[in-house]
Amino acid sequence: MSTFVDEFMAALKVKNPAEPEFHQAAMEVAESLEVVLDKHPIYREKKILERIAEPERVIIFRVPWIDDKGEVQINRGFRIEMNSAIGPYKGGMRFHPTVYLGLLKFLAFEQVFKNSLTTLPMGGGKGGSDFDPKGKSDNEVMRFCQSLMTELCRHIGQFTDVPAGDIGVGGREIGFMFGQYKRVRNEFVGVLTGKGLNWGGSLIRPEATGYGAVYFAAEMLATHSQTLEGKTCLVSGSGNVAQYATEKILDLGGKPVTLSDSSGYIYDEAGIDRQKLAFVLELKNVKRGRIGEYADKFPGAVFTARDDAKDFNPLWAHKADCAFPCATQNEVNAKDAQNLVDNGVYLVSEGANMPTVPEGVNLFVEKNLLYGPGKAANAGGVATSGLEMSQNSLRLSWTREEVDARLHGIMKAIHKQCIDASAAYGFEGNYVAGANIAGFLKVADSMLDQGVV
Ligand code: NAP
Repeated sequence: MSTFVDEFMAALKVKNPAEPEFHQAAMEVAESLEVVLDKHPIYREKKILERIAEPERVIIFRVPWIDDKGEVQINRGFRIEMNSAIGPYKGGMRFHPTVYLGLLKFLAFEQVFKNSLTTLPMGGGKGGSDFDPKGKSDNEVMRFCQSLMTELCRHIGQFTDVPAGDIGVGGREIGFMFGQYKRVRNEFVGVLTGKGLNWGGSLIRPEATGYGAVYFAAEMLATHSQTLEGKTCLVSGSGNVAQYATEKILDLGGKPVTLSDSSGYIYDEAGIDRQKLAFVLELKNVKRGRIGEYADKFPGAVFTARDDAKDFNPLWAHKADCAFPCATQNEVNAKDAQNLVDNGVYLVSEGANMPTVPEGVNLFVEKNLLYGPGKAANAGGVATSGLEMSQNSLRLSWTREEVDARLHGIMKAIHKQCIDASAAYGFEGNYVAGANIAGFLKVADSMLDQGVV
């Protein structure tokens, strides 16, 4: 490690102890940016990276609610308002028992660079709660969302901070939060994205992150004069991002063979076709069931239960061409990355945020895989949230084709920015460096323009 990265990381760790995911995300960015800071000393002089790593504001609050048995439950709510240099804070809300300050700081930090890459005017933020929607009734989820929004509504607004969904937060949760915001603030505005179509939502927003990750993969393949046609694809997760990544892989002629959730994964050698995918959407979005039920329904498929005693995830050890990690952070460990490479995978496009550990990232880069890091490959979701905000401001709804065409155009633009920035700074073909550098420059220059704030 260089002196600069060493010093930057040492200071960051002292100030933000016990937040390993935040350290991991910051370290990757700092390593990519060193050459940029060397070339433009003004960024160092004005402490731009140090300022980006310090949230503009952190809000932590109590979320009390009453469960169906009449018992009082207490969760913790968060909103990290990370950086507003290029627009209002924007980023999802995550409801998962693993949520804590450091996890959301990593996500908010990544969001700053991702949002900058989208070409749209959005700053970076993230929030959520340690609430676990799994096993809760709709009424319990509603009461929780209402309690959370009763406090959060003081801090967000259409020109200030516009949250969206993430793990555990889909259309149902956005609906309950929007309803409470409207009630308390007495205003109908686009304060959340991922809304229902009848009340200000955008067509293609539910599909956008998954579609975008596959559009990004197609762009990477095109640099090698290839397409997704006939390619075998490993997909992890079975939530929003995984579902629509699978759909777009099918649209482009690929063959998805895996899906997972926290209980394990299914491998379907014959391929997950549209009819099987429709079953998954019903299973996950309506029945809220477990992925193992796929293998009960389609006997050709095999379910493998999660085994924490194993030091690798067998999902990543199948022969394939492409991999789309779409579940959660650090789900591809060093051994998984090696298994992917050994089994012929030459493209990894990350639908999830930071799903690959640093050793895995280094391996993919060293082996010259077509490797699209989450902050570039999954930016289609927030980009389409940006398009939802535009439609809300215009009081217009664009057609499915129009939003999809804009999303596709944005993914191509993100890909080009990564390629151009990596080439300009001597990292030809390295999408990690390209995304970090291109994302940084727009935010950094805006911060210089706006003075020390
Ligand atoms: P989701 O609909 O809640 O689905 C998450 C999926 O990942 C579920 O299948 C879940 O399984 C699995 N999962 C979550 N935590 C896990 C863990 N610790 N171990 C194993 N599996 C786990 O969430 P999503 O919106 O698809 O988000 C997935 C990823 O994409 C996240 O990294 C998120 O930050 C990222 N992302 C999402 C968006 C968006 O627009 N939604 C945009 C950009 C990036 P269980 O149901 O069993 O927990």
